[in-house]
Amino acid sequence: MLNTRKGPAVRALRAQADRVLYKLEMRKTIEAQENIDILQGMVTRVLEKNGKVIGVETGLGIRYLSKTVILTTGTFLKGLIHIGLKNFPAGRAGEFPSMELSDSLRDLGFQIGRLKTGTPPRIDGRSIDFSKTIIQHGDEPPIPFSYSTEKIINPQLPCYLTYTNAETHKIIKDNLDRSPLYCGVIEGVGPRYCPSIEDKVVRFSEKERHQIFLEPEGLNTTEYYANGISTSLPADVQLKFIHTISGLEKAKMIRPGYAIEYDFVPPTQLKPTLETKIIENLFNAGQINGTSGYEEAAAQGLIAGINAVAKIKDTEPLILNRSEAYIGVLIDDLITKGTKEPYRMFTSRAEYRLLLRHDNADLRLREKGYKIGLVSSAEYGIFMKKRESIEKEINRLKTKRIRPTKEAKTRVGEIGITEINAEATLSQLLKRPDVEYKRLIEAYPPAEPLTNEVMEQVEIGIKYEGYIQRQLIEVERFKGLEEKRIPLNFDYDKIKGFSREVKEKLKDIRPVSIGQATRISGITPAAVSILLVALEREYGRKK
Ligand SMILES: Cc1cc2nc3c(=O)[nH]c(=O)nc-3n(C[C@H](O)[C@H](O)[C@H](O)COP(=O)(O)OP(=O)(O)OC[C@H]3O[C@@H](n4cnc5c(N)ncnc54)[C@H](O)[C@@H]3O)c2cc1C
Repeated sequence: MLNTRKGPAVRALRAQADRVLYKLEMRKTIEAQENIDILQGMVTRVLEKNGKVIGVETGLGIRYLSKTVILTTGTFLKGLIHIGLKNFPAGRAGEFPSMELSDSLRDLGFQIGRLKTGTPPRIDGRSIDFSKTIIQHGDEPPIPFSYSTEKIINPQLPCYLTYTNAETHKIIKDNLDRSPLYCGVIEGVGPRYCPSIEDKVVRFSEKERHQIFLEPEGLNTTEYYANGISTSLPADVQLKFIHTISGLEKAKMIRPGYAIEYDFVPPTQLKPTLETKIIENLFNAGQINGTSGYEEAAAQGLIAGINAVAKIKDTEPLILNRSEAYIGVLIDDLITKGTKEPYRMFTSRAEYRLLLRHDNADLRLREKGYKIGLVSSAEYGIFMKKRESIEKEINRLKTKRIRPTKEAKTRVGEIGITEINAEATLSQLLKRPDVEYKRLIEAYPPAEPLTNEVMEQVEIGIKYEGYIQRQLIEVERFKGLEEKRIPLNFDYDKIKGFSREVKEKLKDIRPVSIGQATRISGITPAAVSILLVALEREYGRKK
């Protein structure tokens, strides 16, 4: 858990997963799932008829017909790997690229962009002197991502922290003429938030050192991922600068880091369901939409999957808004603003982050999951009980009043509360910064013992009540604008008073609501007012 010393809004879970075990587990999960057939082939063409997708075709000419298609091509579209000034087509190290599919998408009318990402060298753990690094243990016991996981029983491995230094930076700077990034060989735009080490050394030249986390790749391998030194310098330069780093003086590089350029489909061409605007029933998810990262990809895969099924079943789509989930923030950012560099999710991107805590994800989303059949009745039953316990306990704390009698003063004195001069509810006492919930219930226990999860929600709910209420008021205002819907086929050309830029942007993005329109860059408050008036004129007050 990151940021445990900060408030709950910025705490975040992070996991390093065993690469091999994860792959096996997911394969097992998919194979055990009813109604999924696994078919392998290199898709070269998306098949379309009358503006609707009808399936895909592989390089062998095999056609798979379907009602919906979801493209999740990652970094494979015209993937080009760079190591130093050498480059070669590949989807990922050792894998074929997908050369034809992006042309097929272009032929269908999609704009295609180009991005770049990179990966660090892998190091043999047997050649690392860990005594010269700082050991970084995970939480004990490890905290699962999901409340459906009771506990994690796999053995845990630590990571190790080390740093670059002046010598490392000198070697990198001296060799920039052999870096594809700095010789103009790479055209795609790279990630601002996890830049390559050569980028960091050049852009943050005032920094004396940069962190490197040496992360084990799994329980059954000695391979280490050197997180922090993603690079596309030539292999000999990589090894040379690695050897300047504490603990890595004799490191053996299993494989060098590399940069990869790839095509993506700019996500402003998508609806909030992740269905493309121009080809019905075709969905895009993951890195093809300009994101980078596992969670970003998984989140989009989930939403595209749910909505592709909803489309087939002709049921309501699932759209999460910015106040409900980071997924909502992610998708809204992508489809409204697009991205010019690989997009990563951060807590700072969310306006209502005090509400979007990982610890209340189930309270925010389980109900929706249950309604669309993704949460079992058993899990839902457990969740309802949890929600009831939280409500009941908060209610008890708000209604139980403590009078400043001698007996009460002794009782609260025992748990460290020194002052109680006027009558106060238990929740008022809990709001005091020095009062911990765990101690408070030693003096005034609930009728039945509560689980840690319930206790956490009760404590955050009461301690941060003022801030939470303020955000809830903002959310109400936000929802008002989100509910003012704009039909997708709205005719912006008919409106007088828009500048050409505003008109072009609105026609390009085709926002689904006034709220979304306000978030398009370059759409001024004046333009929003004109749009509101035009909508009212066209559709009456209901829209
Ligand atoms: C070496 C490396 C290390 C990374 N490390 C991290 C990390 O530590 N943390 C993190 O958050 N992110 C990391 N990332 C980024 C993360 O892996 C990706 O952002 C994420 O996996 C993207 O998921 P995706 O499902 O969109 O695509 P991918 O996971 O790339 O999957 C794409 C899949 O589509 C298949 N495919 C592509 N084209 C076709 C076609 N035409 N026909 C058939 N199949 C096709 C490919 O074979 C592949 O299986 C790393 C990326 C790389 C390359």
